[in-house]
Amino acid sequence: MFPFSSRLAPPSRLPRPIPPFPGETTKSYLYRLAVANQLHPDDLHAHLTGTRHHVPITLDGLAAATGRSPHSLSHALPELRPGATPGTYPALPAHARRTICRRCAAHRGAFRFATIWRPVEVNICPSHPIWLGPPVRTHNGDQYDVGDLPEILHAQRRHYRLARRHGRQTAAEAFTEATHITTLWARHGFHHERRIPLIQALRGHRPFTSRLRSGDPITPLVTYPESVDLSRVLAMPHWRHPTVPTCDDLQQFRRDIHHHLGIRYYPQDSPYDPLFHWYQKHHGPHATQRFDNLPHDR
Ligand SMILES: [Zn+2]
Repeated sequence: MFPFSSRLAPPSRLPRPIPPFPGETTKSYLYRLAVANQLHPDDLHAHLTGTRHHVPITLDGLAAATGRSPHSLSHALPELRPGATPGTYPALPAHARRTICRRCAAHRGAFRFATIWRPVEVNICPSHPIWLGPPVRTHNGDQYDVGDLPEILHAQRRHYRLARRHGRQTAAEAFTEATHITTLWARHGFHHERRIPLIQALRGHRPFTSRLRSGDPITPLVTYPESVDLSRVLAMPHWRHPTVPTCDDLQQFRRDIHHHLGIRYYPQDSPYDPLFHWYQKHHGPHATQRFDNLPHDR
């Protein structure tokens, strides 16, 4: 028997060497490859590595079994690129693991739950109006078609612009922070004017309450426009990396929130507001000493 992962000859070519999707996770591709060739995934792994021990597959082994060049495979499968650290999440900076668009999968006749690494700012399929962002499923488990929700489509365009303007990493960090804040707002029913029509569109009836319970699966979708708009404020260098704070900062911050989100934002009315916590975190505890005297005008 050969020692771990070493073999005298490369694995033989598989009868159905299906192509990977661009950016596909290695696990997803190996699963699809096994199914296409009517193999159990463990048997495919043994075929590729020459052992049933738990050893990683190699680019050369996969290239021999699929007839595809190591270069094209490593281009499509980020986790197998030279220098990639196994198990790192995400495999690429500012990327997230997402299920492939169901229409793209159908077009290729591929397994519909294939997963790929996508830039965080890509929440709608570039080819179809299918929501790919944080998992939101319809009642029958399908991905949402957002073609009839122009506010979501417009938000996706603003999200692309945000990543281009501030860089993918900063945009991803600001969006993560904004999503945390808008999720809490949704849970408590704050600033609900833009969410209500989206909840109604997704559920087919006007909601009885503007609150969404913790973990409600539609939250990432119905808060998306305000999450993107809030990200635009949180990504601004002036707010993200303040140099010399001034007495007028909080009022200006409030005006920026109003301008970009279209909400009346009065942090002095809600000192536990998650956005105000974000402001304090970036501007220091002295920020709390001024908000008591803020006027309610804009
Ligand atoms: Zn698609």
